[in-house]
Amino acid sequence: MQAGNMVSRRRLMLTASAVTLAAGIGPVVSAQEKKIGFAIVGLGGLAMNQILPAMAKTRFCKTVALVSGHPDKAKKMADKYGVNPKSIYNYENYDTLKDNLEVDVIYIVLPNGMHAEYTIRGFKAGKHVLSQKPMATSVADAQAMCDAGRAAGKKLSVGYRCQHEPFHNMMMQIARSGDIGQVKVVRGDTGFNCQAGVWRLDKKLAGGGPLMDVGIYTIQEACMVARETPVDVAAQVFSSPDDPRFKEVEESIAYTLRFPHGVVAACTSSYGYDWQNSFRAIGTTGWVELEPAIAYEGQAGRSSRFGKVEEFKLQPVDHFGVEMDHFAQCIINNTDVKTPGEMGVRDMKIMAAIYEAAKTGRVVKV
Ligand code: NAD
Repeated sequence: MQAGNMVSRRRLMLTASAVTLAAGIGPVVSAQEKKIGFAIVGLGGLAMNQILPAMAKTRFCKTVALVSGHPDKAKKMADKYGVNPKSIYNYENYDTLKDNLEVDVIYIVLPNGMHAEYTIRGFKAGKHVLSQKPMATSVADAQAMCDAGRAAGKKLSVGYRCQHEPFHNMMMQIARSGDIGQVKVVRGDTGFNCQAGVWRLDKKLAGGGPLMDVGIYTIQEACMVARETPVDVAAQVFSSPDDPRFKEVEESIAYTLRFPHGVVAACTSSYGYDWQNSFRAIGTTGWVELEPAIAYEGQAGRSSRFGKVEEFKLQPVDHFGVEMDHFAQCIINNTDVKTPGEMGVRDMKIMAAIYEAAKTGRVVKV
């Protein structure tokens, strides 16, 4: 068999397993399929435009409760998605979710600075928790979330939807397969022009700027390609002094991560540039890249081996739906989640080191 045919066969196999992985096809669920009940906490842009519509199309999940500070909005969403109006909660009576036996999982879709409190209270209510990314605004809070989950004997997952998505899985498999030789460098650029007046620019609610919001995806990507945690990091930030948006969080940040076995990552994130979301892993004999990488849909990817470029041909999935079905299956079958709280803690440690490096101008150990 010719070398080219071998590569094509290998790519075909990679395609199939990337889709299988992303589709969350894993442990077998009993014939009597159980749907896991989710309470959605926070009815903002992500919850209303992505999570609720995605949940309605999942196989193993259903929305059974809503938590919101806006009763009219909550009633409208309850009507739309068939949630019992008695299962609408607010931030004052949130803890009474413990008495709602239909609720298995609390899904936190609040500003970052509120994730820890509502996760810990969710565990005290005896529920599993799925927290949006970034998991928290400090390493200590992230660790406290993990500890609370362990104490309650419940599962904690961080909403890293890209890990459940076939284009990302394909990129990882090619980067790790040796198809592009040995990976030396990872590149990543993620950001968008952030509108003024939103919680993302408030340090207490956001924890930081574009690094915490979308830079976290490049960190995930780099760690997945390298299959390890960086040893140390360096970083620089810049905020336009006359731009009132950037009084509390950075406008732009450039950061590098050095991994123990020869991979370096060079990334940028910004709230000041136009929508960017691209990743590339560069190896000794080729490269693999995604662009768009973190959009909700429309992913595209390609790889180059000895100068021959191949586009990925993959069936897209709803990232949020696959992620929720994965978590539901982990609960039904009592298996490990793909993106556990400990992974969120790792990422918080890396981001804390990046901010420390930017502040001090020194290389900082993770
Ligand atoms: P958003 O501003 O649209 O919604 C936030 C919700 O929190 C609103 O319903 C708001 O009323 C509520 N809220 C409660 N207390 C609040 C307070 N004190 N201040 C401000 N809002 C308060 O934000 P979003 O874009 O839906 O983001 C929510 C979370 O989801 C964030 O953690 C964000 O990082 C994450 N997110 C993840 C993705 C992803 O692709 N995984 C995409 C977007 C957002």
